[in-house]
Amino acid sequence: MNILVLGGGGREHALCWKLAQSAAIAKDGGKLYAAPGNPGIAECAELVTLDEKDHGAVVSFCEENAIGLVVIGPEAPLVDGLADSLRAANVAVFGPSKAAAQLEGSKNFTKALCDKAGIPTAGYVHCTSLEQAKAALATFSPPFVLKADGLAAGKGVVIAENEEHAHEALEDMFGGAFGDAGAEVVIEEFMEGEEASFFALTDGETVIPFGTAQDHKRVGDGDTGPNTGGMGAYSPARVLTEALLAETMERIVFPTVRQMAKDGTPYVGVLYAGLMLTDEGPKLVEYNARFGDPECQVLMMRLESDLAQYMLACASGSLAALPEPTFADDTAMTVVMAAKGYPGTPEKGGAIVLGDTESEAAKVFHAGTSLKNGSLVANGGRVLNVTATGADTRAAQDAAYAAVGKVDFPSGFYRKDIGWREIART
Ligand code: ATP
Repeated sequence: MNILVLGGGGREHALCWKLAQSAAIAKDGGKLYAAPGNPGIAECAELVTLDEKDHGAVVSFCEENAIGLVVIGPEAPLVDGLADSLRAANVAVFGPSKAAAQLEGSKNFTKALCDKAGIPTAGYVHCTSLEQAKAALATFSPPFVLKADGLAAGKGVVIAENEEHAHEALEDMFGGAFGDAGAEVVIEEFMEGEEASFFALTDGETVIPFGTAQDHKRVGDGDTGPNTGGMGAYSPARVLTEALLAETMERIVFPTVRQMAKDGTPYVGVLYAGLMLTDEGPKLVEYNARFGDPECQVLMMRLESDLAQYMLACASGSLAALPEPTFADDTAMTVVMAAKGYPGTPEKGGAIVLGDTESEAAKVFHAGTSLKNGSLVANGGRVLNVTATGADTRAAQDAAYAAVGKVDFPSGFYRKDIGWREIART
């Protein structure tokens, strides 16, 4: 079977690397395609040029190349309804419809769904004007959590320590700092606790857990400095005990999938729940309609089951026929190597020599790389995701940093403390 993966970051490299090992592709001489992909992905898939915004072009490519499954990596094409256009042309897709992707695309949509289905989350007020938002603020106490309603590449959330900063942030949001995403704003109660990521696969009805992870959002060691897309991650998140996993499925994930189906917008694909582990139990911070990046990289390193088989079952509504997938007991850790300047303006074009970095237990996923005259150079903020496994968090950390040490990337930097919380716990 032929498979097309859309996207070109570290997440898609990890997905392609895993899909390339699938029996579903190998069995009938199938091919893996990626658009646009990157130089790392080129080692396991054929790269093609496709404009994901041109749904007709993507559909035509699938028809001409007998694509049996499309995997949509990032959120933007999902929120833009690419999965709907493909399904309308009878192309199997791993990824939610436009309506279901609202779980990520609109904070207010998700909060309203939580209300309807009784899902534990922070109390909130949905505001459609600056005046309303300023008035609503008076009913909350600091720190104030302010969220632009729409997609803002992880930058649309402000935690303001006092009222003055909250007013400034609200003025920015309603003033257009996040474009249309900030035309509506959600103000939330602040939740205390540790954050963890929980993943589930669903075909719209059946739901199966698909691993856990924790990431590091801040750019600097000790969780300091500005927020980023993620500077590292590890899996599993042991803070999510068996009891907490069961509670998350029972009180958050199942009710969500049931409510989406009941509302006529069944959710198909991976559901990524960002959780806050509070004194009152796990509460939903947010949903993402796709795998996390770099959480996907650590999940794929541990996944033992055939990824294509599970994605196909989601796309075809036959997940109930499969057993729960298996993951290695090992810990996987990824350290993001970023270009100096990130998350501001990253330096482009810095030379990279990977050397003898990879082994059975270590893999370098490309995130923002390109080839210049045949040599690898940096071409983005987050450039490489150096990922390794070990028997426990400490061993995974040692292996990941040993691999990082072998990468020659003078214009790059990385955090030295990925996994610190888990290691402190043990
Ligand atoms: P990203 O894409 O980076 O995950 P996002 O823009 O979708 O972010 P959220 O995940 O909702 O936004 O919020 C970003 C971060 O802000 C969370 O990871 C969490 O650390 C913090 N946060 C959000 N809501 C709350 C809350 N109610 N209480 C405490 N912290 C919160």
